[in-house]
Amino acid sequence: MEYESVIGVEIHVELNCATKMFCDCPNRPGDEPNRNTCPTCLWFPGAIPKFSREALEKASMVCLGLNCQIQERSAFDQKVYYYPDLPKGFQLSQAHKPLARDGWLDITGEDGKTKKLRIHHIHMEEDVAKLVHETEGRTPISLVDFNRAGVPLVEIVTEPDMRSPHDAMEFIRALRTQIRYVGSSDCSMESGTMRVDANISIRPKGTDQMNTKVEVKNMNSIRHVGDAITYEIQRQIACLQGGEPIILHTRLWDPEKKVTTAMRSKFSGPCVPDPAVAQILISQAWLNEMQARLPEMPAQKAERFIRQFGLTREEALMMSAERDLSEYVETVINHGIKPKTATHWLATQFLPALRERRQTIADTTVNPDRFAGLLSMLERDEINANAARAVLNQLFEGDDSPAALVEKAGVRQISDASALEGLVEKVLAANASAVADFRNGVAKAMGFLIGQAMQASGGKANPKLIREILTKKLGA
Ligand SMILES: [Zn+2]
Repeated sequence: MEYESVIGVEIHVELNCATKMFCDCPNRPGDEPNRNTCPTCLWFPGAIPKFSREALEKASMVCLGLNCQIQERSAFDQKVYYYPDLPKGFQLSQAHKPLARDGWLDITGEDGKTKKLRIHHIHMEEDVAKLVHETEGRTPISLVDFNRAGVPLVEIVTEPDMRSPHDAMEFIRALRTQIRYVGSSDCSMESGTMRVDANISIRPKGTDQMNTKVEVKNMNSIRHVGDAITYEIQRQIACLQGGEPIILHTRLWDPEKKVTTAMRSKFSGPCVPDPAVAQILISQAWLNEMQARLPEMPAQKAERFIRQFGLTREEALMMSAERDLSEYVETVINHGIKPKTATHWLATQFLPALRERRQTIADTTVNPDRFAGLLSMLERDEINANAARAVLNQLFEGDDSPAALVEKAGVRQISDASALEGLVEKVLAANASAVADFRNGVAKAMGFLIGQAMQASGGKANPKLIREILTKKLGA
């Protein structure tokens, strides 16, 4: 029998708010353990949580970026369970009245066609404390760090619309791009600001039954999500073929062994409305204000780049994938650089140079003005491509302008035809056999002669002019 998989994901995203969700402690989980705490986020009995407006704003921007309907009324519940990272015995979460419902994102399916994947809802919740497992001598111990307790999160819950590991990975990538654009989180699975759980079931291909699903956790990269889903689909097919039923449970992905293993389930109790946190009522005016803050999103931006700058779809998608990059390339183009030149040099030279130096567009010292300065010298034929590459590397070393670096390195291109004619004469005289080859129809002799002339000029000659002069002199 042929099977198909039915996949939905639940994604926790940590919002980059200045403070925690219900107190004024700094939201910096990586600080020295238990520094950012107060009675509210240590969850002392009687401490009253006060809901952060910034958390509501950042969460709402996520909802709008994911095409969700923000609900007029939402509310916090107590999700009751006990665990050492949640000693108060419940987590504040929106179980019954989430902040937003009915969103969607487009992805490109495996067949190359656009596929719309629906989002069921988005709710807000507070993060729990962090358990750190260590050993003291030979005794294993567990420590609790409350810096993360009360950090604002949103949880995005999709419909089970995905049919393959590809769909799930593309969805997570698209979601990350949207959330980074609205500026609510950096969505890094590696550092834990984005955590993905996948619900997976299988059914005979062509049917629409919904079978028992298994939840898989503990993936810390998008690639791991794909690997874990692939493994879990194969495991479930093997179960069914062996006559073993699928049971509802949670499994952990083991990235070393590349398998999922069953996890002991936590006791989970009821969800009851919280009596202390006020309900959230959203007015149309406030919603309008949030909508006005929404930046131009990547899909619209890519369309505009194609229309306005004549980029290909592939180039436009690449240049709009990250907001910082899209703004950088647009600034360079606004300096009068041809869009194709800007895109080509960014993709093939600048971005690899950044990666090599472990810099990002946001923190690089080579701002778009300096980069545009370099490209404009290239476009005006003042330097050739080799010189431009060398000067680009030097731009990273200090704050000298591209023009100053070109002068210092003495790489200004020689585009003076009379100077180059003399040089070409000498090259022809010194390479009589190559000239003879060329006259006998050996086309590659031309390349050799251009190389010789470039070398004689110390790499500074304008190669286009050299070719023209050579062609003229050889009567080709
Ligand atoms: Zn606090």
